[in-house]
Amino acid sequence: MAEAVRSTCPYCGVGCGVLLTPRGDGGLDVAGDPDHPANLGRLCSKGASLGRTAGHEGRLTHPTIGGRRASWDDALDLVAERLRAPPERVALYLSGQLTTEDYYVANKLAKGGLGTANVDTNSRLCMASTVAGHRRAFGSDTVPGTYEDLETADLVVLVGSNLAWCHPVLHRRLTEARARRGTRVVVVDPRRTATCEGADLHLALAPGTDATLFAALLAHLDRTGRIDRAWCAGHVAGLDAALAAARAHDPAACDLDPADLARFLDLWAGTARVVTVFSQGVNQSDHGTDTVNAILNCHLATGRIGREGTGPLSVTGQPNAMGGREVGGLANTLACHLSLEDEAHRAAVGAFWGSDRVPAAPGLKAVEMFDACADGAVDALWIACTNPLVSLPDAGRVAEGLRGTFVVVSEAFADADTLAVADVVLPSAAWPERDGTVTNSDRTISRQRPAAAPPGEARPDWWQFAQVGRRLGLAGFDWPDAEAVFREHAVLSGVAGRLGSDFDVSGLAGADWDAMAPVRWPVGPARRGGRFFGDGRFHHPDGRARMVAVAQPVVPAGPRLNTGRVRDQWHTMTRTSRAAVLGRHVGEPFLELHPEDAAARGIAPAEIVEVAGAGRTALLRALVTDRVRPGHPFAPIHWTAATAPAGRVDRVVAVGRDPLSGQPDLKGARVTLRRWPALWHGFAVCVRRPDPAVAYWARARCEGGWRIEMASDAAPDWDALRAALGLAHAAEVVDGARRSFAARDAEGRLTAALWVDAGPVAVARDHAAGLLGTTGEALSGRPAADRPDPGPTLCACLGVGRHDVARAVAGGCATVEAVGAATGAGTNCGACRPEIAALIPRLPIAAE
Ligand code: SF4
Repeated sequence: MAEAVRSTCPYCGVGCGVLLTPRGDGGLDVAGDPDHPANLGRLCSKGASLGRTAGHEGRLTHPTIGGRRASWDDALDLVAERLRAPPERVALYLSGQLTTEDYYVANKLAKGGLGTANVDTNSRLCMASTVAGHRRAFGSDTVPGTYEDLETADLVVLVGSNLAWCHPVLHRRLTEARARRGTRVVVVDPRRTATCEGADLHLALAPGTDATLFAALLAHLDRTGRIDRAWCAGHVAGLDAALAAARAHDPAACDLDPADLARFLDLWAGTARVVTVFSQGVNQSDHGTDTVNAILNCHLATGRIGREGTGPLSVTGQPNAMGGREVGGLANTLACHLSLEDEAHRAAVGAFWGSDRVPAAPGLKAVEMFDACADGAVDALWIACTNPLVSLPDAGRVAEGLRGTFVVVSEAFADADTLAVADVVLPSAAWPERDGTVTNSDRTISRQRPAAAPPGEARPDWWQFAQVGRRLGLAGFDWPDAEAVFREHAVLSGVAGRLGSDFDVSGLAGADWDAMAPVRWPVGPARRGGRFFGDGRFHHPDGRARMVAVAQPVVPAGPRLNTGRVRDQWHTMTRTSRAAVLGRHVGEPFLELHPEDAAARGIAPAEIVEVAGAGRTALLRALVTDRVRPGHPFAPIHWTAATAPAGRVDRVVAVGRDPLSGQPDLKGARVTLRRWPALWHGFAVCVRRPDPAVAYWARARCEGGWRIEMASDAAPDWDALRAALGLAHAAEVVDGARRSFAARDAEGRLTAALWVDAGPVAVARDHAAGLLGTTGEALSGRPAADRPDPGPTLCACLGVGRHDVARAVAGGCATVEAVGAATGAGTNCGACRPEIAALIPRLPIAAE
């Protein structure tokens, strides 16, 4: 058996270590790395399913120009030629999923070679407000704390963070610490998410009022004498102004139960070891930077920073958002946390790169970049490892705006929507073919090591950028491998460290690349690892942190759409959609809406809702629930032209941006909702990929084929529908408005089945999908009486459904552990444990 390769999960910012064992048939076995400090062997459902997403199916294998196959030389020559445009008229749009080495070369190409700061990243959509808030408060983009702080805190406050679904392993570490030491947990989120289950307190505040909550906390800390004035006098500037601004906020705007608010204020004020975790719910706002600073203010005012079990902790969405920040892969940063605007910094980096072209002013940030393309101000745009046609706000406008721009797309997967606008497509190596490093949310740098060869002619992104640099005649673009890129980056960080930057990994410049173990930066001559700011010294020139006077944000009245993620999918699903097991938890795009909103519009559960905004519409399945506030529905972001073309949510999200960070307000889109007049709904399973011509469809893989949800506001074209699903010669059963079809091969094995009804179709989905390739009875859409229906999947790892859990509870299981012992649910990655905990109290338990 092949030896396991140590690498890092390519999904979220927790940065879990994985052990990859090539199986010999092109597949990979994946296990958690017990020696990796981020996860100590744990994996969530996405990480545990990585092996099912590897392989070459659906990959891009050769360059194309204008849709026709081309050689690498021709494609790279053309890209280089187009990038010779004036610096202000070229741009690079990168990704928090690139390795640090990819990012480093792209940033050097842009800022050192092309002389443009028009290099930005999808991390702008994710954590730019945290970067801006850190830089305002600390004088540097420094994450002070570590994951261990979550385990040693007495109080953990999660703000705008559905940690249980978006960073499941970190959530597991927190819940295990809570079980050991009784950590108090408070969740601040307008939605009642899975993270709220078991928390001591959930503050379902009005959307957009987090800054006011923390302003109220700062004022409360002052009133109750909790501000550490002696510490502030030595280490902090701006206390009085921040306090004056905080007192001016009206906490009533948060719309919280006064008793809950008072409990939170007392808990935070009275607990010395407090960690405040924040994430996209804070960042994705038109005042996200202020909210970040309102949180940091409270930690600075109390000196609760830089010590074990205390401090603010921003959790990044992407696996290498931090690495992008470290190399300066943002339009307003330089390299190694140095500043574009600082002449000495520019001179030092320019000298290191041998460039006199380092720009002195920030370039175009993500949304500005695409706006500039639409305005005809960008001649050439290079997009790498990201899918902006789906993920940018007002995404429907992005394609139109790129019509006049020469677009290069470096991409691994052939079904990425953004390929539709590419003049040149460059096939990229993907995880697990990559060699490089990534940095997780607590500054731990880990290696991504290759465990498979890229398909066809696919090549790493750093190599692509370097090749273009060489074609442009630039010196210093001739690295032989990713290791050489890393060493250059590490040496440059030593230069930055001598200029006072927090980011110094020069101690890794001579590290054993193959054996390099996960390490938390800094790794320089002055210090190694640990927490920042314990000594009370910050990175502003006077060594003091800044408290920021945060004004009360103006929160618009009226309905607004919140957007986010689901547990088992990742971004635009180009990878996770390949694992059938990950499609079971949530199989189609949906809209969570409050019962009052549903009733006002006559929308029944599971009907289709039309969401309108930005001049476009999206169709989403109604999930009527009091988990959301009235007027504030929620929709996930994952679906694309390949998976549910009518369900692409970012098409209807036209939003403002934070004036400091440029981060879009992706949780505050103005939309209208109405019941979509579906004439019929359908559900089908088929062995071949279905492509029906109906208004609404959502397609996902299942074992042995595909499953698809459908609906239409037009009468069915039965012949076309049956042909699209492989049911042209199927048996049919008509039962009132419900029609069922099943097709079988010569051996009687099910090849396709379809159920159509006037309303949402009642079919046991997982059961139906499991019948593909079998001779089992299909048309009823239900298991036979002797085969209990597992119900919708709850535990993706072990295939345990809600009905399985309900039966276990009815059998006397009253705890998550007991349900796990009876069914297996929640005993692998544990990501479903909050949902099981939420379900148990709602189910009848057998009498003793
Ligand atoms: Fe990957 Fe899950 Fe770990 Fe995130 S929590 S890095 S998705 S295994």
